[in-house]
Amino acid sequence: MSKTSFNSLCNKFECELCGKIYKRHSGLANHKITIKDANIMRPTVYDLPERAIEETRRILIYHIKERLKQSSKHAGNVRVMFSCTESQFFGVFKGYIHDYFPKTGNYKCIFKGINSYSTLSKVLGDDNWGVKYFLQHQKTFVLSYQQPSNPNDPDPLLESNLCQKPDPLQVQDPDPLQEPDPLQDQDSDPLQEPDPLQDQNQVNIHKAKKRRICKPKPVQIIIGWKRKEKSDVRNIVYSSGFIFINFIISRMKDIENFY
Ligand SMILES: [Zn+2]
Repeated sequence: MSKTSFNSLCNKFECELCGKIYKRHSGLANHKITIKDANIMRPTVYDLPERAIEETRRILIYHIKERLKQSSKHAGNVRVMFSCTESQFFGVFKGYIHDYFPKTGNYKCIFKGINSYSTLSKVLGDDNWGVKYFLQHQKTFVLSYQQPSNPNDPDPLLESNLCQKPDPLQVQDPDPLQEPDPLQDQDSDPLQEPDPLQDQNQVNIHKAKKRRICKPKPVQIIIGWKRKEKSDVRNIVYSSGFIFINFIISRMKDIENFY
């Protein structure tokens, strides 16, 4: 993703999906051919009935929403990963795959920009796939886009000056509807029950937060598929496919529901 720091003012040819910028039109054209190829059905993929694909969508949404908690300590970068066959992944994301890696057989989708939430609503068939509402007008959601604070700056989240800010998610929120969140500054939410299963997640989130201070990640949702293969001392191999989803969790007051 180092290409994203490139000065976009001097360049014209940008991939809308990944933000990669090319000096020549032919560079972008080749990139688009690669993307098109990534969406070709491989021999390892078989057709699933629509009902099975629909069920996979619901499983995906369940796993995403399970990470959307009321407490601010669950906000930040997260990664969801669970078993999924290549055919299930392809059935849901065909047409939206950005990369296919022939050597490993892995796939990657990038959802980025102002339309990324609605694109995923379409892919997953659910407008509420990335949002959960709580008492006290609290809303926790998958951050899919953050407006540039300066119109001359197409993507301030990619600027290195963000490194000085401890938490880009809680600084200068561009949404004028957003109100200050009294829960935001608390490390722990007294209303939140402790969840022993979340301990490991917490460690991961804290690690992610530490990383973000040095090098903030751009606001995007990465969904991919990979095969994990392992073997024992007798070289007996066992493997499984996994889907992984990398995203940022944010929180705000849901003022639409005030009455
Ligand atoms: Zn691209």
